[in-house]
Amino acid sequence: MDTCALHDGFGRTITYLRIAVTDKCNFRCVYCMPEAGVPPRAHDELLRAEEIAHFVGLVAAEGVRRVRLTGGEPLVSHRIVPLVRAIRAIPQIEDISLTTNGALLPRLAPALKEAGLDRVNISLDTLDPAQFGEITRLGRLEQTLSGIDAALGYGFHPVKVNCVVVRRLDQDVFGLARLSLDRPVHVRFIEYMPIGDETTGADRARDVSEGAAPTSPMGEGDGPGMAGGTGAIDPHCPGSVDAAAWDASDTVPSAELRARISEAGVAAGIGALEPVASGGEPAGAGPAAYWRFPGAEGTVGFISAMSNHFCSSCNRMRLTADGAIRPCLFSDAEYQVRAALRAGDDARVRAIWRDAVAHKPQEHQAIEGTERFMSQIGG
Ligand code: SAM
Ligand code: SF4
Repeated sequence: MDTCALHDGFGRTITYLRIAVTDKCNFRCVYCMPEAGVPPRAHDELLRAEEIAHFVGLVAAEGVRRVRLTGGEPLVSHRIVPLVRAIRAIPQIEDISLTTNGALLPRLAPALKEAGLDRVNISLDTLDPAQFGEITRLGRLEQTLSGIDAALGYGFHPVKVNCVVVRRLDQDVFGLARLSLDRPVHVRFIEYMPIGDETTGADRARDVSEGAAPTSPMGEGDGPGMAGGTGAIDPHCPGSVDAAAWDASDTVPSAELRARISEAGVAAGIGALEPVASGGEPAGAGPAAYWRFPGAEGTVGFISAMSNHFCSSCNRMRLTADGAIRPCLFSDAEYQVRAALRAGDDARVRAIWRDAVAHKPQEHQAIEGTERFMSQIGG
């Protein structure tokens, strides 16, 4: 049964669902996860792939049309391909995208394409191999670069590259923006959000190292290439980036960043960034503002998560890996739906969804940290 789209209490039409397929990851980015990984969860605390797909079917009947699979790292789940296939089979879903660190894309891209995934966003914060190792703790730059190649090679469209900019990291943002010059890559710069409570994070990290080995989110064991599942830290990474020291002054406003990249373009003889005309943005443009170097194949986008709230046009809801509906990234208000899903009580699931949508806040307040890590919410 299809119905009219669902509106929240402020007239926004809710059409977009972001799903944290897992809260685990093969990287340990310093701004996202504790070094030892997220606290372990009992197997039955986490949604199974078929439960996620069933949930999507129910909310598709409530107006959801676009789904993003995220995490944690969605590609560490063994069930990611069947999950994409199951969501693709839901007639109302028009767009399925996935946010990934890219490391496992060379291996999984063909199966994901065949299963019906439309497009991917790949996170890449730096082109400096040493800095990449410091930020991600467990990652290697060439893995993510190969992931971008694979995404382009297997015809995902558009391919977006997300870069979180942190002032004290002094990233080569012009170098990253240049990735858009001769390939259809859309590089988006995201303002760093000082969202986590580092003190709490440290405590949780200790809990993990003292507890049992993390359990799989889907119940099938760790996915391919899952590194450090027991919290082991790769000795090649010195871990000299201390995100606990970062604060609001590390958020670089998009306007400042754009000016810097544009000036570098002029100095390099490429030219200044030009605004992308309305309609010329890559699909699923969301809250990004898009610019382009003259003659470039791709674009350069800016997501002003901090300096310019886009709450008034926010059409997204989130589902956490443990089955909580979360109306706002920055609010800890959650609506637990796992028990109803597991009981097969579809009417109850729909009622909880409607309640969550009705209580989506008008806008988020100042960010003072949430109870969860970004990897648990599905950033
Ligand atoms: N593992 C996947 C990845 O890295 O793309 C998907 C999950 S990750 C949580 C999704 C996005 O959230 C990544 O682009 C990551 O850089 C971003 N992110 C995590 N913590 C953030 C923070 N504190 N501020 C801004 N972006 C953040
Ligand atoms: Fe993993 Fe993505 Fe978080 Fe990095 S940002 S730790 S890749 S979930």
